[in-house]
Amino acid sequence: MAVVVSACLLGERCKYNGGDNRNEAVIAFCRDREIIPVCPETAGGLPAPRPPSEIRDGQVWSKDGANVTEAFRAGALRCLESCAGRTVEYAILKAHSPSCGSGEVYDGAFSGKTVAGDGVFAAMLKVRGIPVFTEDQLEEAAQCAG
Ligand code: SF4
Repeated sequence: MAVVVSACLLGERCKYNGGDNRNEAVIAFCRDREIIPVCPETAGGLPAPRPPSEIRDGQVWSKDGANVTEAFRAGALRCLESCAGRTVEYAILKAHSPSCGSGEVYDGAFSGKTVAGDGVFAAMLKVRGIPVFTEDQLEEAAQCAG
Protein backbone atom coordinates (compact mmCIF):
# COMPACT_ATOMS: atom_id res chain seq x y z
CA MET A 1 0.00 0.00 0.00
CA ALA A 2 1.44 3.35 -1.02
CA VAL A 3 0.89 6.95 0.02
CA VAL A 4 0.89 9.69 -2.61
CA VAL A 5 2.68 12.80 -1.30
CA SER A 6 3.14 16.32 -2.71
CA ALA A 7 6.80 16.46 -3.64
CA CYS A 8 7.16 20.04 -2.39
CA LEU A 9 6.30 18.85 1.15
CA LEU A 10 9.27 16.51 0.92
CA GLY A 11 11.61 19.37 0.02
CA GLU A 12 11.53 19.25 -3.77
CA ARG A 13 11.90 22.73 -5.23
CA CYS A 14 8.88 22.48 -7.50
CA LYS A 15 6.80 25.27 -5.95
CA TYR A 16 5.66 28.15 -8.17
CA ASN A 17 8.32 30.48 -6.75
CA GLY A 18 11.10 27.97 -7.26
CA GLY A 19 11.16 27.02 -3.58
CA ASP A 20 9.68 24.15 -1.60
CA ASN A 21 7.21 23.52 1.19
CA ARG A 22 9.49 21.15 3.13
CA ASN A 23 7.60 19.87 6.15
CA GLU A 24 9.53 17.87 8.74
CA ALA A 25 6.36 16.31 10.19
CA VAL A 26 5.39 15.00 6.76
CA ILE A 27 8.91 13.70 6.15
CA ALA A 28 8.88 11.91 9.51
CA PHE A 29 5.41 10.52 8.76
CA CYS A 30 6.62 9.14 5.43
CA ARG A 31 9.58 7.34 6.97
CA ASP A 32 8.93 3.59 6.85
CA ARG A 33 6.01 4.10 4.46
CA GLU A 34 6.02 3.39 0.75
CA ILE A 35 5.48 6.76 -0.89
CA ILE A 36 4.85 8.06 -4.39
CA PRO A 37 6.06 11.69 -4.59
CA VAL A 38 4.22 13.76 -7.19
CA CYS A 39 4.08 17.33 -8.44
CA PRO A 40 1.13 17.68 -10.82
CA GLU A 41 2.13 21.13 -12.03
CA THR A 42 5.66 20.30 -13.10
CA ALA A 43 4.33 16.96 -14.42
CA GLY A 44 2.12 19.07 -16.67
CA GLY A 45 5.14 20.76 -18.16
CA LEU A 46 5.06 23.94 -16.11
CA PRO A 47 8.47 25.26 -15.05
CA ALA A 48 9.65 26.17 -11.56
CA PRO A 49 9.59 29.07 -11.01
CA ARG A 50 6.30 29.91 -12.74
CA PRO A 51 3.55 32.47 -12.11
CA PRO A 52 1.18 31.43 -9.30
CA SER A 53 -2.19 30.08 -10.41
CA GLU A 54 -5.64 29.83 -8.84
CA ILE A 55 -9.00 28.28 -9.74
CA ARG A 56 -11.80 30.56 -10.89
CA ASP A 57 -15.10 29.40 -12.42
CA GLY A 58 -13.84 25.86 -12.84
CA GLN A 59 -10.74 26.89 -14.78
CA VAL A 60 -7.17 27.47 -13.63
CA TRP A 61 -5.69 30.89 -14.29
CA SER A 62 -2.15 32.09 -13.76
CA LYS A 63 -1.65 35.47 -12.17
CA ASP A 64 -0.49 36.87 -15.51
CA GLY A 65 -3.86 35.97 -17.06
CA ALA A 66 -3.06 32.73 -18.91
CA ASN A 67 -5.55 29.86 -18.83
CA VAL A 68 -3.41 26.94 -17.63
CA THR A 69 -6.26 24.49 -17.07
CA GLU A 70 -5.04 21.99 -19.66
CA ALA A 71 -1.52 21.86 -18.21
CA PHE A 72 -2.97 21.29 -14.75
CA ARG A 73 -5.25 18.51 -15.98
CA ALA A 74 -2.54 16.84 -18.04
CA GLY A 75 -0.14 16.93 -15.11
CA ALA A 76 -2.71 15.51 -12.73
CA LEU A 77 -3.45 12.67 -15.16
CA ARG A 78 0.26 11.98 -15.52
CA CYS A 79 0.57 11.73 -11.74
CA LEU A 80 -2.33 9.28 -11.66
CA GLU A 81 -0.55 7.24 -14.31
CA SER A 82 2.57 7.18 -12.15
CA CYS A 83 0.49 5.32 -9.52
CA ALA A 84 -0.57 2.62 -11.97
CA GLY A 85 -0.02 -0.88 -10.72
CA ARG A 86 0.24 0.18 -7.09
CA THR A 87 -2.48 0.29 -4.48
CA VAL A 88 -2.78 3.84 -3.19
CA GLU A 89 -4.07 3.93 0.37
CA TYR A 90 -4.45 7.72 0.63
CA ALA A 91 -2.68 10.96 -0.26
CA ILE A 92 -1.05 13.74 1.73
CA LEU A 93 -1.13 16.88 -0.39
CA LYS A 94 -0.21 20.53 0.11
CA ALA A 95 -3.09 22.55 1.51
CA HIS A 96 -4.82 25.23 -0.57
CA SER A 97 -2.92 24.58 -3.82
CA PRO A 98 -4.92 24.74 -7.07
CA SER A 99 -3.54 21.25 -7.83
CA CYS A 100 -3.10 19.65 -4.43
CA GLY A 101 -5.50 21.52 -2.10
CA SER A 102 -8.22 19.47 -0.39
CA GLY A 103 -11.44 20.98 0.93
CA GLU A 104 -10.18 24.56 0.63
CA VAL A 105 -8.30 26.32 -2.15
CA TYR A 106 -7.25 29.89 -2.84
CA ASP A 107 -10.18 31.95 -4.02
CA GLY A 108 -9.16 32.74 -7.60
CA ALA A 109 -8.59 36.43 -6.93
CA PHE A 110 -5.01 36.09 -5.60
CA SER A 111 -6.27 37.68 -2.40
CA GLY A 112 -4.70 35.15 -0.05
CA LYS A 113 -8.19 34.06 1.03
CA THR A 114 -9.53 30.54 0.62
CA VAL A 115 -12.87 29.12 -0.45
CA ALA A 116 -14.35 25.62 -0.33
CA GLY A 117 -13.04 23.40 -3.11
CA ASP A 118 -10.41 20.94 -4.24
CA GLY A 119 -7.36 21.28 -6.41
CA VAL A 120 -7.38 19.56 -9.79
CA PHE A 121 -5.28 16.57 -8.73
CA ALA A 122 -6.93 16.20 -5.32
CA ALA A 123 -10.34 16.13 -7.01
CA MET A 124 -9.20 13.39 -9.41
CA LEU A 125 -8.02 11.25 -6.50
CA LYS A 126 -11.26 11.75 -4.60
CA VAL A 127 -13.50 10.70 -7.49
CA ARG A 128 -11.44 7.51 -7.59
CA GLY A 129 -12.20 6.91 -3.92
CA ILE A 130 -8.73 7.79 -2.62
CA PRO A 131 -8.85 9.80 0.63
CA VAL A 132 -6.86 13.05 0.56
CA PHE A 133 -5.33 14.75 3.61
CA THR A 134 -3.30 17.91 3.93
CA GLU A 135 -0.03 18.33 5.82
CA ASP A 136 -2.16 19.55 8.74
CA GLN A 137 -4.15 16.31 8.93
CA LEU A 138 -1.46 13.71 9.59
CA GLU A 139 -3.30 12.29 12.60
CA GLU A 140 -6.39 11.67 10.50
CA ALA A 141 -4.22 10.09 7.82
CA ALA A 142 -2.66 7.74 10.39
CA GLN A 143 -6.13 6.70 11.52
CA CYS A 144 -7.17 6.15 7.91
CA ALA A 145 -4.25 3.78 7.59
CA GLY A 146 -5.56 1.83 10.57
S1 SF4 B 1 1.54 21.17 -7.60
FE1 SF4 B 1 1.38 20.25 -5.56
S2 SF4 B 1 3.36 19.20 -5.34
FE2 SF4 B 1 3.62 20.68 -6.99
S3 SF4 B 1 4.40 22.51 -5.98
FE3 SF4 B 1 2.18 22.74 -6.10
S4 SF4 B 1 1.47 21.98 -4.12
FE4 SF4 B 1 3.54 21.22 -4.39
